[in-house]
Amino acid sequence: MNIAEKHYKVLIIGSGPAGLTAAIYAARANLSPMVIEGVQPGGQLTITTDVENYPGFPQGIMGPQLMDEFRNQAERFGTNFITDMVSEVDLTRRPFTVKIGKDKMTADTIIVSTGASAKMLGLESEKVLMGHGLSACATCDGFFFNGQEVIVIGGGDTACEEATFLTRFASKVTMVHRRDELRASKVMQERVFANPKIEMKWNRVVLDFVASPEGSLESAILQDTQTGEKETFVCKGAFLGIGHTPNTQLFKDTLKMDELGYIITKPDSTATDIVGVFVCGDAQDHVYRQAITASGTGCMAAIEAERLLGDEEAEAT
Ligand code: NDP
Repeated sequence: MNIAEKHYKVLIIGSGPAGLTAAIYAARANLSPMVIEGVQPGGQLTITTDVENYPGFPQGIMGPQLMDEFRNQAERFGTNFITDMVSEVDLTRRPFTVKIGKDKMTADTIIVSTGASAKMLGLESEKVLMGHGLSACATCDGFFFNGQEVIVIGGGDTACEEATFLTRFASKVTMVHRRDELRASKVMQERVFANPKIEMKWNRVVLDFVASPEGSLESAILQDTQTGEKETFVCKGAFLGIGHTPNTQLFKDTLKMDELGYIITKPDSTATDIVGVFVCGDAQDHVYRQAITASGTGCMAAIEAERLLGDEEAEAT
């Protein structure tokens, strides 16, 4: 598609549950939204396997399939898609300008739904085993480890929360942390230490993950940072709890963010301090981080964009 100098009423950046829900609502409001879906469309759900907590799918659904369904639904009502990355945005004046390389387009409203990415250790085996024993979301995948031994990597609030949650299913949870004290808040630490199903492995780093012949996680190779000693730790599941990074670098100098890079929205709203720019999903939420909550805020963003455009149109007539 030749996108040079095209103008849209609603332009959505990001194609996870938040962006695609915003697209469904904007498209059904006859706003013909454009979604710039990135080069790996679908967001974080595309790196999970079964999704069993998204309402409406009592038998569960595969993450990538769920995102395909979202996309089909958005397309059915007239959403346009570009499979590319935004390289630059100018939010200083309306209409806003969005660039993809040399191509430029303008928009009356922009919905930011660029999500967040779980931090990874940087191992080759991580890419292969993600969704096959390795996960970055206990709420999503904990259920699959009923009666099994799992490890959680990290020592912050996320890792503690994941470890505590996983004790509902796993027979034993071992927290693997690179130092000898947790970074997590006191209350989280106390909860972890009081849980008889959680064991700590202090001063350990993960050198590698090992796959079984069937291709799922079999063990993790741990190394003691004090002695250098290595061990093979057998576990069916491993949860990365080393933090998330919101994908908001593109808006660094224009939208208000907290110290972690999450974009700040107005209370009970997805509006930012720039009129016409809305943010939904994990780019603004580091608390819930669920597909359903991302969808909820995506819906809010589209409704808010539609109302703003309607009000402005009414004022102009
Ligand atoms: P944090 O940055 O707080 O913690 C990350 C943890 O992972 C640290 O213990 C860190 O180790 C470890 N880590 C980081 N990189 C590596 C690595 N490459 N290898 C091994 N270990 C690593 O992230 P969180 O996601 O835990 O929390 C982010 C923010 O969200 C915090 O402000 C937190 O309070 C908040 N939060 C609040 C929750 C709640 O209130 N319910 C729940 C979850 C998060 P080290 O300590 O050595 O740096």
